This record gives sequence, structure tokens and C-alpha cells, in this order.
Amino acid sequence: MSWELFEARMHELKDLDGVLGILSWDEETYAPPKGRIARGDQTSTVESIRHQRLVDPKLGELIDSLSAKSLGPAQSTCVQRMKRQRDLAVKVPESLVKETAIARSASLPAWQEARKNNDFPHFKPHLDRMLSLLRQKADALAPASGDRYDALLDEHEPEMTRAQVEPVLRELREGLVPLVEAIVGSGKKPRRDFLARTYPEQAQWDVTMRLLRDLGFDFERGRQDRSAHPFTGGASRLDVRVTTRIFENNPLSAIFSTIHEAGHGLYEQGFDQAHYRTALAAAPSMGIHESQSRLWENQIGRSKAFWEHYLPAVKTVFPKQLSGVSLEEFYAAVNIVEPSLVRVDADEVTYNLHILVRFEIELALVSGDLPTADLPTVWREKMRSYLGVVPPTDADGCLQDIHWAWGSVGYFPTYTLGNLWSAQIMNAYQKHRPQVWDDVRAGTFAPLLGWLRENIHGKGYLRSAKETVEAATGEPLKVVPFLSYLRSKYRELYGV
Ligand SMILES: [Zn+2]
Repeated sequence: MSWELFEARMHELKDLDGVLGILSWDEETYAPPKGRIARGDQTSTVESIRHQRLVDPKLGELIDSLSAKSLGPAQSTCVQRMKRQRDLAVKVPESLVKETAIARSASLPAWQEARKNNDFPHFKPHLDRMLSLLRQKADALAPASGDRYDALLDEHEPEMTRAQVEPVLRELREGLVPLVEAIVGSGKKPRRDFLARTYPEQAQWDVTMRLLRDLGFDFERGRQDRSAHPFTGGASRLDVRVTTRIFENNPLSAIFSTIHEAGHGLYEQGFDQAHYRTALAAAPSMGIHESQSRLWENQIGRSKAFWEHYLPAVKTVFPKQLSGVSLEEFYAAVNIVEPSLVRVDADEVTYNLHILVRFEIELALVSGDLPTADLPTVWREKMRSYLGVVPPTDADGCLQDIHWAWGSVGYFPTYTLGNLWSAQIMNAYQKHRPQVWDDVRAGTFAPLLGWLRENIHGKGYLRSAKETVEAATGEPLKVVPFLSYLRSKYRELYGV
């Protein structure tokens, strides 16, 4: 009996999550400007109902009584997942949640203003405030290790600790820095003039829709729209919303945004129907979600085989713009490596160095080893030493990302975990199906999607991310597969 009561409450919470997913999707896509103002009220009402239902003592009793019973493995995992969610919500005092919301509503506009005017001192007191609240939150969550950063990381990457991530990222840095130096030192500059030509929006849209369809995105259970910042959202595996953005003078933006979000969207559509409306219909972490988007975007979408298939088709849509562009030139252009100042514009080689700058700094900010006053200087030093470029302004330096202003620490490393896992997953798949590149060259993606469904997507949140990837690949988190992938690809492209 208590299982049925528990299940009804779990369904209700999942439904509220779905409602919130559609509300925020609508806000980013179609809501009229004034509707967005009202949307803030509606979202916060639904969120507070959800919070009340989650912290309700009755749910706590149901979880306790079910934890003591012997249930089937899926049922008992559901109970554990709900317990985790509820513990996180219960442990952080309501006063702290409110204070954080108030601090955030002051911090975000201050950060925007500071970035616009390149005025770090204007943002500094808000950053101090957010960090102090984050430390209080970490203390309230009291991770077993006693490490505050673990508490913050755990929110985005459950069961991963700083002690596990730090050495892996250090090893990655030691591999990447010389690789970037060698690529820069090669002096090779791939042709890119054709990318700046005009590519009409509607034709770009049609290309992205075809890509989504070909990769296996199910339009009976999802849709694509446009938004300022591409994202994947929606309500459940039956209703997945991906977005893209289109620039007339940069056709690669729409193409790779769509492939990236397709990776997230295919994951969400791939949850098991048997897990529908349960705590198992979820990705176990942000990092594993990102492994899917990066796998499709970079490993597949930036491969030569992929463009052997698609370049002729894209050329029929843009015959003038791409006239005289060879496969080799196009392949090189979608894989240009160039140290840059801004993370979101970075290529797949330098991207992780941007993450390392942030990871190392946020560790020191949370521990207090780095006073916020020194943040701009340390940022510049790390950029120089890892990427060989120095931001001339803080706007293009330590003020570029929203994460810390929002109060989010421990999120950045999940991007890199996604990259590392994507290479491990792709290696495992290649062992399983050596003809993968013949498939891609033929535009056949169903075997890969099927394998991902079986080994990653369909597993949902039965296990943690690291356990899920380990079960799929037979190995723990590793740097070598990703570095080997980069080295062999860029050896060919840059002769390094
Ligand atoms: Zn992503």
C-alpha cells in the first residue's frame, strides 16, 4: 500500500517538473515580452508547490517505511532517488533558500552591468555574498568528505568528488597545453572565407530539421524551435523540446547547435517507457547528459565521414556559397583550433582549458584561498599560461559567464566530464561496431543510436553517471581516450 501512495506522489512531482519544463521552454521561445513578466510569478508558484510537496513529512514517512522493505531493484532505486532529492531540499534551511534568491536577484543585474561596463569592482560585493551563501549551503549539506566543494559539485554531478575530478583534470591540462601550443605553432590557417557568406535563414532551418530527422529525433515526441540560447527542455520522453539559433553569416552555428541539442534530445527521448513519471526517467548527472551532446556534435558531427555524407547535400542547398569548397577544406573549417578569450566560442581542443581555468579558480574561491579581489589577475595569469592569450578586459575575462553570479559553483567541470566520457563511449562503441565510420559515411545513425539507447539512455537513473559509463565502456573515468582522439584527429588536420 505504501508503494502506491509513494508512487502517486512521485508521479505528481514528475508532472510538476514537466509543467515547469514547458513553462520555461515557452518563456524562451514564444512568450510575448509582457507575458514573460507574468511567467516569473507563475513559475515561482509552481516551484513553491513542488517544494512543499517534496518536503512534506508524509513523503518522508513513506520513503522511510519503503526503505525498510524489500522491493524490486527499480522500485528501491526510485525510493533512493526520491530520498536524495528530498534530503537536499530538507537540509538547506528555507531562510537560506530565500536569502539566496534575494542575493541572486541583486547579483544578476550587477553582473550584467559590470560586464557591460567592464567594471569588476561593481560585481565584487555580490560575488562575495554569493560565495558566503554557497559556503553556508555546503555546510548545511555536510558532505561525508567534509569538503565544501563536494557538496556543490554533488548537486550537478552526484557521487563525484573533488578528489576524483582534480587529478583527472590536471592530467588533462598537462596533455592539452602542449597540444594547443603545437597546433598554434604549426602556423596552419584553414580556409574560412566561405563561412562568412550569406546563408538564408529558412534554408539553414531546413538543413537543421533534416539533420534532426536523420539522427533519429522523433518529431512525434518532440519539436525544434528557435531561441536566443540553444537548449533542450520539455516535459518528458514523450515531449522533448530542442532549440537552435541561426545567423545568416555563420552557417555552422545552427548546424552544430542543432546536432548538440539533438544529442541531449535523443537522450531524453531514449528514457525507458517503463520509467515514465518515475525518478528513474532522468539523466544521473549533467556530465553524462553532456557526454551525449558532445558525442553527436564533435565525435560524429565534426568527423570527416559525416561531411562526406552531408557536404554534397548542403552544397545543393547553398550552391553559390559553397562553390569550389572541397571536402578537405570544409572538414578543416569545422575543426579550426584557435585559442580564444570566450568559452562559449571555443573549439573542442581549447574548450577544456577554459573549464580548467574556471574549475581551479572556483575551488580556490570556495575555500577562501583566493580573495575575490584577486580574481581578475589570477584569471589573466591562467589564461596566459594555459591558452597563451590574455583578455584585455574583465568583460572578456572573469565576467563572461553567468554561473557564479547565479550562485552556481561545481557546474563547470561537468562540461569536461562530458567530453571525456564522450570519447570513452565512442571507443567502446567502435569496438562493438568497427564499421561505424561506414555507417556515418552512409548517413546511417540507427545502429549507434540503438547502442546508446541500450547502454546509456534506457538506463535512466538506475545508476550514477560514473557507474553507467563504466558499465557501458568497461572502464572508469579516463583522460587518455579523449586525448588520443584529439591527437590523432589534429595530427591529420594540423600536421602536429
Ligand atoms: Zn549541452
